[in-house]
Amino acid sequence: MLNNLLLELFYNFIPQNECKHDKVSPMSDGEYCPDCGRYIVNEWYITRCKCCGVRLQSVKKGEDVIPAEKFCHNCGGSDFYLEKLSKIDFVNINYAVLIKRAMEDGAFSRTTQCWQDFDGENQVLKLLPFFDKKVSRG
Ligand SMILES: [Zn+2]
Ligand SMILES: [Zn+2]
Repeated sequence: MLNNLLLELFYNFIPQNECKHDKVSPMSDGEYCPDCGRYIVNEWYITRCKCCGVRLQSVKKGEDVIPAEKFCHNCGGSDFYLEKLSKIDFVNINYAVLIKRAMEDGAFSRTTQCWQDFDGENQVLKLLPFFDKKVSRG
């Protein structure tokens, strides 16, 4: 009984061989990964300066997407927000970061996104920071 529990704990700590879903095309909205069989959705994110709204070169840091530079090249601000792109284009692709997200057990993750009105010169809808809550099992 106790041994089983220890064994279970032990296996939970073994790092899983995470599939990188390399064969999933970055240009598709989503498809099944031929390596692991899970449904993979491509999500593109860019960071924007909170102060002036310009696009910032974005990099992936662990699970997060952050600006590559500490300060905005346009205004010197250090605050940023994350924008999820509904589609990648050739302008944004130079700034954006691709996250290949596996849909767990065929169930699409429930996420809430809020849109924010942009009252700048060009009327573009912007996404508020995107929160993706990881649900831990057990
Ligand atoms: Zn895979
Ligand atoms: Zn700025």
